[in-house]
Amino acid sequence: MNKSTLNFVSLLLVVSSLTTFFSCQSDQVSHTTNKKINIVATTGMISDAVKNIVGDSAEVLSLMGPGVDPHLYKVTQSDIKKLMNADVIFYNGLHLEGKMGEILEQMSQNKPVIAVSDGLTKEQLRATSEFQGNYDPHIWFSVQLWADVVKFIGKNIAEIDKDHADFYDTNTTKHVEELNLLHSWTQKQVNIITEQQRVLITAHDAFGYFGRAYGMDVKGLQGLSTAAEYGLKDVTNLVDFITENKIKAVFVESSVSDRSIKAVIEGCKNKNHNIVIGGTLYSDAMGAANTDEGTYIGMVKYNVTTIVEALK
Ligand SMILES: [Zn+2]
Repeated sequence: MNKSTLNFVSLLLVVSSLTTFFSCQSDQVSHTTNKKINIVATTGMISDAVKNIVGDSAEVLSLMGPGVDPHLYKVTQSDIKKLMNADVIFYNGLHLEGKMGEILEQMSQNKPVIAVSDGLTKEQLRATSEFQGNYDPHIWFSVQLWADVVKFIGKNIAEIDKDHADFYDTNTTKHVEELNLLHSWTQKQVNIITEQQRVLITAHDAFGYFGRAYGMDVKGLQGLSTAAEYGLKDVTNLVDFITENKIKAVFVESSVSDRSIKAVIEGCKNKNHNIVIGGTLYSDAMGAANTDEGTYIGMVKYNVTTIVEALK
């Protein structure tokens, strides 16, 4: 290599390191202005909605994994860390997270802590006789209501992270369109079941919104919260109803013990009515990560298919 070539090489090195230097600088600048916000959601359904809205533009963490019962869930040490680091927290509200009231209240002193159910009007909610002035918290089971919830979440994220507002708006609209299709698909599927069999019997009353939206009678042994007790009388009443109406199947829930449903099946057998477990439904938690049922749309499709196959 002669001297002039060497000089050229060193010049190239200087230029390239300068370029690297400046591009690092500009990278750093864009990182500070475009710093990803941290979003924490309590349930998998909410975090799925958030992920559909933010894509890779924000960090999204969910506290409750597959099979976790939100009614009974207590925060762990690692949850507290996640909540502390969050820029915004989304939770269901309507007392779904029955044991998290205090920690959410505490967090709301330093950051936005948003109940996604606030995106619905009182008229859209199911009032419950169970507790006065309270509403059924299982709002994700009407896909139509959930689409409104998604719009509400999208609006809030766009206000908090204004730099990406257009991106969030576009994604929200796209996801809402997917949900509208899912809503009409669900209605068509339920219509396959004969009218007499349009009864959904599960361990606890998670499917009230589903029943109201798609025209199914819904009966749960345990009421709206899994924290509620059920008695022998509840089992007897349900057994009577099932045998009188010749219902073909009952359903187990992925986040609730099947003990109560097994008592009902046993009771039916004693009255010479053979009833089967129609399958396991995802009620208050979605399926495992990286499976279809680990997404909101996949979970709804799985539930609806399971219900229709068992009762049609
Ligand atoms: Zn529930």
